[in-house]
Formats: sequence, structure tokens, C-alpha cells
Amino acid sequence: MDLLKAGFKEVKDAVTTKKISAVEVTKFFLARTEKLNPKLNAFIKMSDTALEDAAAIDKKISQGETVGPLAGVAFGIKDMLCTKGLRTTAGSKMLENFIPPYDATVVTRLKNAGVVVLGKLNQDEFAMGSSNETSYFGKCKNPWNEDYVPGGSSGGSASAQAARLAMGTIGTDTGGSIRQPSSFTGIVGVKPTYGRVSRYGIVAFASSLDQAGPMVSSVEDAALTLEVICGHDKMDSTTSQKPVPEFSKNLTTNIKGMKIGILKEYEKGVLHPDVEKTYRASLESLKKMGVEFVDVSVSLTEFAVPMYYLISASEASSNLARYDGVKYGFRADFKDLSSMNLDDFYSETRGQGFGTEVKRRIMLGTYCLSSGYFDAYYNKACQVRRMLRDQYVEAFKKCDAILSPVTTSPAFKLNERSKDTLAMYMNDIFTTSTNLAGLTGLSVPFGLSSEGLPIGMQLTGSHFEEQKILNIAYALESVSDVKGKTPHVF
Ligand code: GLN
Repeated sequence: MDLLKAGFKEVKDAVTTKKISAVEVTKFFLARTEKLNPKLNAFIKMSDTALEDAAAIDKKISQGETVGPLAGVAFGIKDMLCTKGLRTTAGSKMLENFIPPYDATVVTRLKNAGVVVLGKLNQDEFAMGSSNETSYFGKCKNPWNEDYVPGGSSGGSASAQAARLAMGTIGTDTGGSIRQPSSFTGIVGVKPTYGRVSRYGIVAFASSLDQAGPMVSSVEDAALTLEVICGHDKMDSTTSQKPVPEFSKNLTTNIKGMKIGILKEYEKGVLHPDVEKTYRASLESLKKMGVEFVDVSVSLTEFAVPMYYLISASEASSNLARYDGVKYGFRADFKDLSSMNLDDFYSETRGQGFGTEVKRRIMLGTYCLSSGYFDAYYNKACQVRRMLRDQYVEAFKKCDAILSPVTTSPAFKLNERSKDTLAMYMNDIFTTSTNLAGLTGLSVPFGLSSEGLPIGMQLTGSHFEEQKILNIAYALESVSDVKGKTPHVF
């Protein structure tokens, strides 16, 4: 079996029929990570127990016990998700030494399904960024070309997955952080509907927007992961009671007659020629598959980026107040605590513990929430957000899914935008409205740029309509230009 290509099902079947052991699979990916990670900086912490965990699965199999649907599948986890006994930093100095006493629900469910956790993946600090350049643990590289960013904030997940340092990875998406890096690295990334996946044990950035999801090598593997991680969790009251479909069993490339919405507002934007070409090619392919195109309008998408940065920064300023140097996390080194005043204690600790981008968001958010500005900024943004959601609900009465690019350009070079905050924020122009409206969205690799970098197409689905976008992605994947292509590190 070729572990560089094998899907989850193939590996699970081979492990359960003892053609290969979970230990062998784990060893393969650990060795590959040891070889390639120094170049990519995708993993920032390896698990000390991966081989033991794999051996436990093999033991169960040899004793005839039942194992989960992902038995022996090796995963990397974004460092936003708590992992019991395994350092979890959210990419920040603030949590440099934090070892969680419990697993996030997503991690528990993956482990119960038989997944072996290899280690933790690099990311932008507290998931704030689009290039993985704000990580306290250093930049992460795009395995297709190491001069380029892998995207962000789930840059480590994207880089590790594209280079096949793991069979699957988990990312989080607050405004595009699963879809954008997936597009930049040629993998499949799904942001589930808000409420589909439990946020319990995930470091909170903007609680009304955050969702975790798969970043994997194929649509089928994404469907298989979703089946495991989705569903109600009593530890997160925002999770839905809706039953979780058997996404993988319902996959079909027959999408004839499906209605695909084209957003009028997105047609106006200026696209990089390679993205434009890929987008047009995807329309062409879908047409051949017999879909029907429908023009739809969601006029408030025009305000998605400012709305997103205002709301997410406000929620972040509140969520990140917990990092005070008292309860846990980093504390500045004080000579004499007894003579210290509390404000100085906080500001010294927080001043040293957070990076520049995180501080910018906290200041922006605190400003928007302060009395006198709350109504004018935060409340106004929340009202417009509700209207945006309503506009999408209307649009989805006319179509099954909306097709668009993920970003206006392919992956950019390291350092190219790190000093230009606005250019970095504008990268999220096509992705943030999905989160604001609580919808589901994904990126599926479809084209290659003139420099040989992958370009993904975005499908946005109505609430709890993951199956529809998975099926359209499955159809696109079958004719994708990226199919069978691998980054040069292979
Ligand atoms: N790039 C966006 C930001 O910096 C999105 C981040 C995310 O989805 N976590 O906020």
C-alpha cells in the first residue's frame, strides 16, 4: 500500500485485516515528519505516545475487539485544540507551557474512532492571520514552494497535509482559516455549519464564528472525518441536535440538475488571472456535468470584511481577557510581586505574552465594545450580520450551493504582506461571510497557477447542507487539474 496516497478507508481496512499494523502506519508518518518537518515547520510538537496509542489499536484488533471507522489513521491536530497531556499553545508564547488536562471533543471523537494523534500543528497566533506568519513558533512553509506561505491561520495543518506528514489534519475556521490554506496547498478543507461540530476544548478566538473541520487529501476523507467529528455535544450548548448524515456513503459525482449560484457581487472583483482561469474552468466543467447556473445576489457581502474584523476582534478581546498571568499561561518575570500593582502586573504579562497582531485585535475589539462605541460599532455590525444571514437564506431558496474562488490570488510569498495589515485582511474577502452567516463552506483543489501553485475553488452551502457541497466538490475533484499532482517535497 502506498501510504502517500492511500485514503482513510483503504488504511482502515488494511489495519483491521492486519495487512499493515497501526504501528507501521504511525512509524511511516513519524519518519516522514522527522525528515521533512525541519524544512516546513508544520508540526510544532510531536506526541510522545503516538506509537503506544497505535499499539493499543493493534492489540484491540488482535483480540477481536471492535475498532472505530478510522482505526490506524494518523492525524495531526491544529494547536488550537486541547489535547490531554500534549502541549497546546494556540501558536502563542502565552500558552508556551500549557498542557491541557483534557481533550477537545473533536479530539476525543477522533481517538474513539481509532485515530492516532501524531502531534500538534503550527498556526497563526490565536488563529489570527492568513499566512501563519504570526506564530510564536516561527513561520511555516508551503511544500509546493518554500518561498511561499501555506496560508493561515491553519498553515501547519495545510503544509503537513500537502506534504503528507500525516494522513489527515484538523484545522479551525473563524473567517477562512480552513478554506484559504487548503486552497493554497492543494488539499480539501471543509468548514462545517456553525453548530455542527463541538467547540468544547478549542481555544476560543471568536466564539460565534469558530468551527473546526477536516483538512485532508480527498473529498471522501473529508466526508469520513465529518461523520466522526460532527454532532451534538452536551459540553457545547451551541451544537445542533440534527442527525449527522453518512456523508461518505452518500457521495456521488452525479450532480446533474443541481443549481449552482453565482454571486453577482463576487463577479465584480478583480481576480488574479490564474484564479480567474481556474474559476472559468470550473464553471465549464460543471456545465458539462449538467448543472444549472443561477444568478444570486447577497449585497451585504460588500461589508463582510469590516463586519468580520469588528465582530471577531470584539469577541477576541473578551475571550483573551482570561490570559492574565494568574490562572495559567505565561507570567512575566517579576522580581518582587509584593510591591506590584495589579495593572502593571497584567500589562507586563500581556505585553510580553501576546504578539503584535493579537494586541492589535484586542485593542480594536476593546475599543468597539467600550461604552459610547458599543452601539455604533459592535451592535451595528451584529445587526448587519443578521441581515446578511437573511440574504443568504433567500439566495439559497434559488440554488443548492454558491461557487466562487477562495481568494483573489494564489499563495503569496513569505514576508510579502506581513507588513501590510489591510492587504492581509482583504485576503478574506470571499471567506468571511460564510462564518458570519453560519453557513458551511469548503475548498477543493482545481487548478494550478503559472508558478505551479495549487488553486482551490470554494463551494458555500446553506445551513447543514454539507452533503450538497461535498457532492459538487467530489464531482469537481474527479476532473481537477491538481489530481495526481504532488508538491516537490514528495
Ligand atoms: N484571516 C482571518 C483572521 O485573521 C481568519 C482567521 C481564521 O479563520 N481563524 O482573522
